[in-house]
Amino acid sequence: MRDWILYKEHTFPLIRRLNKHFEIIAPVEGKGGDIVFDPITSEHDVVLDFTNTIMPPKRFFFPQFETLFSWKGKEFTLAPPRGAGLTVPLKTKRRIIFGIRPCDFSGILFLDGYYALAYEDNYYFTRRNNTLFILLGCNEPQEHCFCLSAGTGPFLKRGFDIQLTDLKDRYYVQIGSRKGKELIERYDYFFRPASREEKEENIQTVREAERKFKEEVDFDLVAKKMENEEVPESLWQELAVRCQNCGGCSYVCPTCFCFNLIDRVTGKEEGKRMRTWDSCTFSGYTRMAGGYNPREEKKDRVKRRFYHKLVYEPQQFGMHGCVGCGRCVTTCLGNINMPRVMHEIMK
Ligand code: SF4
Ligand code: SF4
Repeated sequence: MRDWILYKEHTFPLIRRLNKHFEIIAPVEGKGGDIVFDPITSEHDVVLDFTNTIMPPKRFFFPQFETLFSWKGKEFTLAPPRGAGLTVPLKTKRRIIFGIRPCDFSGILFLDGYYALAYEDNYYFTRRNNTLFILLGCNEPQEHCFCLSAGTGPFLKRGFDIQLTDLKDRYYVQIGSRKGKELIERYDYFFRPASREEKEENIQTVREAERKFKEEVDFDLVAKKMENEEVPESLWQELAVRCQNCGGCSYVCPTCFCFNLIDRVTGKEEGKRMRTWDSCTFSGYTRMAGGYNPREEKKDRVKRRFYHKLVYEPQQFGMHGCVGCGRCVTTCLGNINMPRVMHEIMK
């Protein structure tokens, strides 16, 4: 497909135009000064000079709290949610996630696999299929980023709708899907075709970004060692001593999908069933109704987390359960994080 150029001075007018027809979710400055994904009211809310957002935008597809259905009366009629009171409405106008980094978008591709595993999760896919993704590749990987090792960045070769590469005064625009092509065609007056020189400039920019990575890990080697049971139990024991069961690593992770289901009584003979984020590091995560917990010990929970991401999920979904975003590095109180654990195993 043909590649395009978007001049930076045309970016905000483009966002303003898109905002008339789509709900735009983009990086904005949050209350505490952190950069977060949020729906915008004006194009001036959008921050494009950022490293990465403090949280991935997974909550727009898999909300932290969500009503799956409610019931009322003795006849027990079930009703799906109508939008009121939901963190993210199920039915909404078409959305664009603007400025998502390739690692976080790869997290969405990973979640697609999970939410279609046994059956298609309607709550997830209603939002997912209603959304177009405009990626902003990373010219400047940060200290803890290792998406290059994970194969999820700093730029993607396929899978996206539209991907932008920063060429200083312009963005190089690549189309990766029919949805992306239709969007460019609809707003073609903001774009012009890229020249052969600009195509080369884009290739050089990608190569330059790839050379800047400081963190490098070998996913295949680590998985092999884990599968061959070459990892001593003492590693998991040592990590368990430092884990505070806070769940932070799961909440910030673009690929973590675990949830809990709870029933809330909201009145006489009425209530609702909710889905909430959960974490495999919580002691109650695997506790069964009779009280038995197969992973009572913290060591087993920590071990399970890393086996899931590095061994079981690649077998199940054909993708690593880690996209190398580096968020767990800055989040974990106990300095337990993916690259550190992988380095320990590689040793
Ligand atoms: S962020 Fe660190 S301390 Fe918190 S649950 Fe995860 S591993 Fe444990
Ligand atoms: S495990 Fe850590 S580095 Fe990997 S995707 Fe999750 S938060 Fe990012």
